[in-house]
Amino acid sequence: MTAPDVSPATDGRRAEITEALAAVRARIADACAQADRQPDEVTLIVVTKFFPVPDVRVLADLGVRDVGENRYQEALAKSEECADLDMRWHFMGRLQSNKAAAVGRWADVVQSLDRAKLVTPLGRGAEERAADGRPGALEVLVQVNLDTDPEEAKGRGGADPSDVRALAEAVAGNAALRLGGVMAVAPREGDPRAAFERLRELSERVRTVVPEATHVSAGMSGDLEAAIACGATHVRVGGAILGNRPTNG
Ligand SMILES: *Cc1c(COP(=O)(O)O)cnc(C)c1O
Repeated sequence: MTAPDVSPATDGRRAEITEALAAVRARIADACAQADRQPDEVTLIVVTKFFPVPDVRVLADLGVRDVGENRYQEALAKSEECADLDMRWHFMGRLQSNKAAAVGRWADVVQSLDRAKLVTPLGRGAEERAADGRPGALEVLVQVNLDTDPEEAKGRGGADPSDVRALAEAVAGNAALRLGGVMAVAPREGDPRAAFERLRELSERVRTVVPEATHVSAGMSGDLEAAIACGATHVRVGGAILGNRPTNG
């Protein structure tokens, strides 16, 4: 792969990101006010996939600490370039079994665990990470598929809601991992609120297994208000801050 572009962002790009980030922070604050929640109950994760390292540096300058990526090679290269920034890197892409250990070794949080067979390799990666000098268990969220149409559900990541409890138990049973909570992407069709309400119920079910697993990662550029109304603790926003991506990967 070619070396990432690391020349600093132009003033124009910096201004664009500054304005868009302020607008998204205002949307989060408004949504919290509407829902009678405090803005500090919601963490903004800026999804930087497809965007270059200089954009990550601008975000860091603007006080963003949490960033999200969905492809391991790209994520690794970018995070290495940004090693001086102390960002928290969230992995939220499809996890392949043969990459799970590498992702577990690299990430600060893995948001997309959706199959039991990923638990052991993720845990192995998390142990290697501890040996690299990053102590503490790796935070893992169980990704849930909220599509009600089975055909739609197929192509998208996420565990069937009926498997969520067992997956939570599997993560809780691995000493190198720490269950953070649940994550979901709203279905393409329909009211996102119905899906996010379902996620809230699943979060409650998971907390009967692991009471500390309070994180609910839901809401993106188009539906963060609905997610916050339904109890999201983390929103994952890409396009509304960084602009259009070349593809919707
Ligand atoms: C890309 C992506 C996002 C961000 O989506 P936007 O619509 O650009 O805000 C959030 N979550 C996941 C899992 C993603 O892959």
